[in-house]
Amino acid sequence: MRSYRLIAPAKINLLLEIIGDRPDGFHELVMVMQSVDLADEIELKHLGSGDRILLHCTHPQVPLGETNLAYRAAKLMQECFPGHGGVEITIQKNIPIGAGLAGGSTDGAAVLVGLDLMWNLGLAQDELHTLAAKLGSDMPFCVSGGTALALGRGEELSPLPDLDRLYAVLAKYQTLSVSTPWAYQTYRQQFGATYANDPTAQEERRRTGPSVGLLGAISHHDAASIGQALHNDLEKVVLNHHPQVGLLREKLVEQSTLGAMMSGSGPTVFALAATREEAQQIAASIQAELPDPDLEVWVTKFIAHGIHLAESDH
Ligand code: ATP
Repeated sequence: MRSYRLIAPAKINLLLEIIGDRPDGFHELVMVMQSVDLADEIELKHLGSGDRILLHCTHPQVPLGETNLAYRAAKLMQECFPGHGGVEITIQKNIPIGAGLAGGSTDGAAVLVGLDLMWNLGLAQDELHTLAAKLGSDMPFCVSGGTALALGRGEELSPLPDLDRLYAVLAKYQTLSVSTPWAYQTYRQQFGATYANDPTAQEERRRTGPSVGLLGAISHHDAASIGQALHNDLEKVVLNHHPQVGLLREKLVEQSTLGAMMSGSGPTVFALAATREEAQQIAASIQAELPDPDLEVWVTKFIAHGIHLAESDH
């Protein structure tokens, strides 16, 4: 049993539509998720025959106990597949925290995939998805990544054609985070009266909603139409509450020829670009227009996969 180094990519949402309430208390969603090459790096080392879990992270704000999704993923694997011993996990955190980029979920997904390899379990993709769904709605997507339609709470996945020629400029104010539960609760308070709550009404909403245009654009690899069809219901609550995120979005819409939007529950905003040069140009312009040391900007590429081994571990 040697050590493993895994790359855990962030995701952005090209679409997040809230359909209604589910009997389990979660929201019924339609999402289109996309992996990007901004990623954490996770190292796993075998830790002897006990069931100890040691966790280290390069970022001081990441919790190191039972609430960390990487820790919870290791614990779940030990419970489901006992007798394989302890594990030491080191997270090199590159994805900003509380950013709407699924940073915690992708770390958890990396631990599931890595322990499957380290313990020679040979789990199938759908078995990994089932384990991941126990820990978080975004985690199954993080396992397989790429471009995917996500229904239900986000755990019912269908792969979509790869968009790995596109780029996204991500921008986030470093000191600003948004709690995902807060965003959904506030949305329910403000828009709960518009929800479709029975299965027939929900199906009708899915069939006629904004995903129809986006899925058509993706199937034609039509970058301009993808940009026009971007949609995120949570912008209605997060942009109102954080006007500086609204302004950042406005500036990115002006700079981008394809389109810009907030990802997930925010506050990260992204602009689409057709080439790396165009993305670098947008990144430079936004930093010139909003010269704030708190504003962080990344040029990222869409990628066609989720968790994978680091180059040197192949
Ligand atoms: P999502 O897009 O899935 O809603 P997010 O990108 O908005 O997630 P995360 O970066 O996953 O948010 O962090 C949300 C909270 O989760 C953090 O404030 C932190 O307390 C907790 N957390 C648990 N595990 C991790 C982890 N491995 N890395 C970062 N945060 C974690």
